[in-house]
Amino acid sequence: MSTMDPTTNIDRPVTAVPQAVVETLEACLGEADRPIPLHKPVFEGKEWDYVKECIDTEWVSSVGSYVDRLEEDLADYTGAERAVVVVNGTAALHVCLQLAGVTDGDEVLVPALSFVATANAVSYTGATPHFVDSEERTLGLDPEKLGRYLDDIAEVRDGTCVNVQTGRPIKAVVPMHTYGHPVGLGPLQDVCETYNLALIEDAAESLGSLYKGQHTGTFGQMGALSFNGNKTITTGGGGAIVTDDHELADEAKHMTTVAKKDHPWKYVHDRIGYNYRMPNLNAALGCAQLEQIPVFLDRKRRLAARYRSAFTDVEGVSFFEEPEDAQSNYWLNVMLLDEGKKDQRDAVLKATNDAGFSTRPTWQLLSSLPMYEDCPQMDLSIARSLERRLINVPSTPSLV
Ligand SMILES: *Cc1c(COP(=O)(O)O)cnc(C)c1O
Repeated sequence: MSTMDPTTNIDRPVTAVPQAVVETLEACLGEADRPIPLHKPVFEGKEWDYVKECIDTEWVSSVGSYVDRLEEDLADYTGAERAVVVVNGTAALHVCLQLAGVTDGDEVLVPALSFVATANAVSYTGATPHFVDSEERTLGLDPEKLGRYLDDIAEVRDGTCVNVQTGRPIKAVVPMHTYGHPVGLGPLQDVCETYNLALIEDAAESLGSLYKGQHTGTFGQMGALSFNGNKTITTGGGGAIVTDDHELADEAKHMTTVAKKDHPWKYVHDRIGYNYRMPNLNAALGCAQLEQIPVFLDRKRRLAARYRSAFTDVEGVSFFEEPEDAQSNYWLNVMLLDEGKKDQRDAVLKATNDAGFSTRPTWQLLSSLPMYEDCPQMDLSIARSLERRLINVPSTPSLV
């Protein structure tokens, strides 16, 4: 395979970037059995003991001591006053939005560069997602650009932010901490204050990530976490709502448990609730996983450091590092191709996957999916650029 010609100083040939990436991944992960998945769960703690206890005691379903314990443990860990565990992260987001007052005919600001669940949860409430650009520094929603955009298109009327172009109220903003990297929450809080927007964090990818020393998910009114099988900790499938507001937490618990009033034998439901509860079996797995999160995070940081130093010499590629005001969980490690090399993205994906390293492109921008292509959007030039240059590389903590 050709490399840089030592006699001239010209750029490497087109094949050089994929080859250099494969070689660098080999140097970082050479010991591991291939194919190496992008992310897989690690069960090295008390998972078997806790799950077995559920089966032995027959408490496998919608109530049980592990549900209560996981809620307490999550609140302790994140520093939130309360946590309510639910069936998955998408359901958590849905309930957060509904409790924030988002309803039919509203708009909600969401990053165009996100997993589809962020926009879907908005749609479940009957509201319309309104797509926002990202910043390269955090890979998340750009608060300054959003502020300038709202100055142009929005107005606060009687305390409600209104999109003057569509006439619809803009009720909330849902930042997403992309691959675990915290967005600029401080500046975003200022925008929310100016425009009276509810701040709901999609912290599905960022459990354990800090912004200025405080856990992501705890800055807004409510935050949504996910414990899907590919996330930093897993309950098989699951999620949680975190909040400092006890009233909202009680409401969230009520809404996600079919809105059933406490009664020793009668079925009394006082509104249309959801069956969104997390079974005890899943919560048991979650309790065992959460006990190991400090170890997982430590390994993930070491893996990220290994990638970072190995990739410094790879021309045309940079390795994404946490923003300076944040500490990231490095859920999925991110490689960014230089603007000039973005045409080689698919060749890099092919070469790495062929070599047994599961790498993936980032999501297609939500604003270009068929069900969302007519939704309002601001200029999305940075998100578009990231969409074409971003590649995730294997990030399971047990790789180090
Ligand atoms: C994983 C994820 C969710 C929620 O996913 P579930 O599979 O429903 O738990 C939501 N938003 C983002 C950005 C995610 O990555």
